[in-house]
Order: sequence, then structure tokens, then C-alpha cells
Amino acid sequence: MDRSRGLMAVHAHPDDESLWTGGVLAQHVAEGRPTAVITCTNGEPAEGEGFAAPGTRVKELAQAIGLLGVAESGLLRYRDSGHQGRGPGSLCDAPFDDLVGDLVARIRSFRPAAVASYDAYGMYGHPDHIRVHRAVLVAVEAAARPQLWPQAGAAWAVDSLWLATVPDSMVQRLLTLGLESAIPSTPDAQVSVALDVRPWLDLKWEAVRAHASEFARGSRIAAFEEPRLRELCLGREWFIHRPGPGASGGRRWTPGALLADLT
Ligand SMILES: [Zn+2]
Repeated sequence: MDRSRGLMAVHAHPDDESLWTGGVLAQHVAEGRPTAVITCTNGEPAEGEGFAAPGTRVKELAQAIGLLGVAESGLLRYRDSGHQGRGPGSLCDAPFDDLVGDLVARIRSFRPAAVASYDAYGMYGHPDHIRVHRAVLVAVEAAARPQLWPQAGAAWAVDSLWLATVPDSMVQRLLTLGLESAIPSTPDAQVSVALDVRPWLDLKWEAVRAHASEFARGSRIAAFEEPRLRELCLGREWFIHRPGPGASGGRRWTPGALLADLT
């Protein structure tokens, strides 16, 4: 398999892989391209009681990844920092270079053409998402330099970074449909790609549903049970493109043929 055409998605928690990149991952699998999902936490809180029994969310994650057909996955050793962004063993309290080093090793092992993660605000401000965004940016650069983390495998230069985001126009549309207040979003002109993932929406939704404990606790993702809202919000995936250190190396990664206009 030509790994240089592969896509690696790096996320903070179980369920993020399906919600924000489930469509692009399913599309890649359908096209026979290599895919990997790295999840930085096991979804269990570093402080306080979890909503699900220990181990539940990791099992749900494995089920979702299996449904999407993603061949490779990895789980880092951190815990959910919560909205306070802290706690023993949490992603946010861990030394930043430890997280970067973990990601450098995964990038060098999988050798993706493209890495997907979150925008600078972590889509909606979760401290773990913001942490992952920053670590991914640094890890992609560091992975290409053999002098850095030399014990973590041979250097690998990623072509493209794809940062999942929500465009302003989508938030405006949701406000007209009853969303109570605006959520952080990105000016449409800064969004590089609106990927139409509706051909994989049923599969993506099945993967989201695999995170049953999130539905059981009444997470906001249950709002997507409503089919029209589901198609609107999960039927497209929006990304900001950033060239990686391998962008001039001759390999070109594109997210596929199903690019939709933002309008
Ligand atoms: Zn998350």
C-alpha cells in the first residue's frame, strides 16, 4: 500500500474522530487509501467521576474506528482535561514536549501525506482540542527533522495539514434555524475545503452512534438525531489547509473529488 497517500487524523477524545473527520476517513477508506486515527486521551476525566465505566469509551472508540474501516489506530496515554483544562495525567498538564514526541513517533511510523486535526480554537474551545492543535503543528514540523526525536524513527515530511473548522456561513444558517447564540467560527474566505461527505453520512452517523455512553449522558451530539440538522452539520466537513514541510516534495494530497462549494 502506498502510505504516502495516507491520511492520519489526530484527535483529543473518543467521538471526535467520527464527528469531525468521519466522512473524510470513510471516503479515504472507500478509495483504498491508508488511514489512521490517533486519539490522545481515553475520554476519561483526569478529575472527578466519569459518566461511563472505566474502559467504556475506549471500547466505543474501537467500534467506531472499525465501522469507518480505518486500518490503523493509536491511543495515547493521557486523560481528558475537562473544560477547566487540568488534572493529574491530563493532556493539558502533561509536558508539551511529551505530547509532541508521541505524535512525532506516530507520524514517522505511519508516514501520512496528510494530517488532519482541529483549528486554532479547537473548533469550540475545549482545552484538549486547542492543545492537540498546537502539538500537531509542532509535531508535523519536528517529524521532518532527523535531528529532533532521533529515537522516534526516520524523519518524515507531511505534505498537508487539514484543520477542521466551522465556517461563519454555517453558523449563520444555524441561527436562522433556531441556534440560540453564535458559536466560534471561521470566515468563509479562510476555509480551504468544504468536503461533501453525504455519501458516507449514514456510516459516519453509525460511527458517532457507537459512542453510546455520550448519548446516554445527554451530550449535545444527541441533537444530530434530527435528520435535517444531521445532514446540515455532519454532511460536510470543513478544513483550513496549511502546507506541511513536505509540500514542495512532489507529492500532492487532495481530499478527493467530492469538493463542494461553500455557498
Ligand atoms: Zn473532543
